[in-house]
Amino acid sequence: MAQTPLSNLGEFTLIHEITKHIELQNASSVKGVGDDAAVLAFDDKIVTTTDLLLEGIHFDLTYTPLKHLGYKAVSVNVSDIAAMNATPTQILLSIGVDKRFSLEMIEEFMQGVYFACEKYKVDLVGGDTSSSLTGFCISVTAVGHAKEEKLCYRNGAKENDLICVTGDLGAAYLGLQLLEREKALFEKEGVQPDLSGHDYILERQLKPTARTDIKTLLQKLQLRPTAMIDISDGLSSDLLHICEQSQTGCVIYEDKIPIDFTTYNMAEELNLNATTCALNGGEDYELLFTLPLEAHDVIRQMPEIHLIGHITDTQKGRILQSRSDEEITLTAQGWNPMKG
Ligand code: ADP
Ligand code: MG
Repeated sequence: MAQTPLSNLGEFTLIHEITKHIELQNASSVKGVGDDAAVLAFDDKIVTTTDLLLEGIHFDLTYTPLKHLGYKAVSVNVSDIAAMNATPTQILLSIGVDKRFSLEMIEEFMQGVYFACEKYKVDLVGGDTSSSLTGFCISVTAVGHAKEEKLCYRNGAKENDLICVTGDLGAAYLGLQLLEREKALFEKEGVQPDLSGHDYILERQLKPTARTDIKTLLQKLQLRPTAMIDISDGLSSDLLHICEQSQTGCVIYEDKIPIDFTTYNMAEELNLNATTCALNGGEDYELLFTLPLEAHDVIRQMPEIHLIGHITDTQKGRILQSRSDEEITLTAQGWNPMKG
C-alpha cells in the first residue's frame, strides 16, 4: 500500500487525521479535542493515572503490530483505573513519531486506540503530537471516577482476608519470551518466525485487556475489596506492595495460582518454571485483591476469580507454600531467579 510521508503533512493536518473519528460518549466529557484544554465534569472523586511507553524500552516494533500497541497503551492505563475500583471515562494521548512513520502507520496505531476506547467506553479528549528523534514515544493519561466509599487502595488488607486473583497469570511473559526467541532466530539464522498455535500467550503479551468487568461483578455481589492492585510487575511484587502498604504478611499456595495450560506448555518448551513466570513475569494486567473472609462462599463460585491464599499477621512473613509443602519467602524477584 502507498505510504504518505508525514513530512508531506503539517502538524495540524496530522492532528486532524488522528482526532477526526472521535465521537464523545460520556456525559462527563464536556469539551474534548479542539480547544486549549479539555473540560470534564464529575460529582464523584476523580482518579487519574499516566504511563509512558518508549520504543526499545517498553515495546519492539519488529514484532508488535501498531494496532495492538495502540490498544495496549490504552489498556495499561485503564487497568490502573480499574485497580482503584473506579470507572474509566477519558484518556489523553501524546505521541512522538520519528521519520520512519507514515500517515498509514499512525492510522493503524489509532485504530487500536479507538478500538480500546470503544471497548472501555472512554473518550479521547486531548493529547499532544510531536516529532521524535528517539523512536516512537507514547504517553497515555487516563481519567476515571468513583464514589469515595467505593475506592480501593493498596493499604486496606487485614489479617485473615482472602487473597484473590482474576484470570490467569504468566502468559504475557511467555508470549514475550516466544517473540524474543523467534526474533533472535530470524536475526541470527534468517529462520522465518513460527508463531502458529500460540495465539493465547501472544495475545496476552501484545493485546492485554484491562479487567473493567470486575468492578461490575463485585458490585453485583455486594463486595468491596479491602485492597486492590493490578498485576503489572508480577504476582509476587504486586502482592508485596499490598502487604507492605497494609503492614501485613501473607500466605499463597503454589497449586492455587491460576496458570493456563498453554502457558505451562510454553514454559516447558523454553525450560522455564511456569510458577516462576506467574510470580515474576508481569504484564498480565489481571487484578489482585483482598476480601473479608465472609466472602469465601460467594467468591468460590466465581469461575473468573481464584482464591490463592490469605493475609496474615506481618510477623508471619510473606510466604509461598510450594506444591512440595516448602515455605518460600516471596521476594520482589520471586522465589527462584528467572532461568533462561
Ligand atoms: P496546543 O498548541 O494547545 O498544544 P495542539 O495544536 O497541540 O494544541 O492540539 C490541538 C488539539 O488537538 C488539542 O485539543 C489537543 O488536545 C488535541 N491533540 C493534539 N494531539 C493529539 C493526539 N495525539 N491525540 C488526541 N488529541 C490530540
Ligand atoms: Mg500541543
